[in-house]
Amino acid sequence: MAICDWCNREMTTARSCTVADLHLDGVSVPMVPWGREPGWRATSRCHDCGVLPRQLHHLGCDVQRCPLCGDQMMSCECRFDEDGSDEEDLGVDANGCLTERIVVGGQEVIVHYDADVPEKDLTVVHGIPCTTALRTVIDIATGIDDEHLARIVSDCLGRGLFTLEEAWGRLEEADMVERPGALRVRAVLPPLAAA
Ligand SMILES: [Zn+2]
Ligand SMILES: [Zn+2]
Ligand SMILES: [Zn+2]
Repeated sequence: MAICDWCNREMTTARSCTVADLHLDGVSVPMVPWGREPGWRATSRCHDCGVLPRQLHHLGCDVQRCPLCGDQMMSCECRFDEDGSDEEDLGVDANGCLTERIVVGGQEVIVHYDADVPEKDLTVVHGIPCTTALRTVIDIATGIDDEHLARIVSDCLGRGLFTLEEAWGRLEEADMVERPGALRVRAVLPPLAAA
């Protein structure tokens, strides 16, 4: 049993991998199918990854050639978008906090790090420590447009995750006066007088 990380197929029985191309700055680079490698004749399954002739090697197969330089894919120095890089995965959000792009359960998520989240912005949901709904909205506010943000805010209010009074109260505190995300939330939050 050997499951390919890329196509999730059992390599001894799969006909082919599903990865037909990788990307370089978003431009597709087709992979070299088994049997097109110079010096190889494919008459049976690839001896390393097991795909059928003229099918796509499972990524990481040691017979697989790099479509860019023609050398062994496993050992060449070429980098593709799919390889990612630690530097590119890190960023800084509009609130000045460090962000990191990670993959959780196949889903890409952006983690926001903040050094000093006050106690009042923290809560525990199903045993997992996290920021309150209000603080979370403030932290993501700079990354989304007004209309979407307004929908999120009214959804939170509707579900009772925080009240208008709580939201305005928190936004008026000193650490929220200049915070870009707080300014954004303030712009879409319904006025208290309406209540
Ligand atoms: Zn595969
Ligand atoms: Zn192979
Ligand atoms: Zn290469």
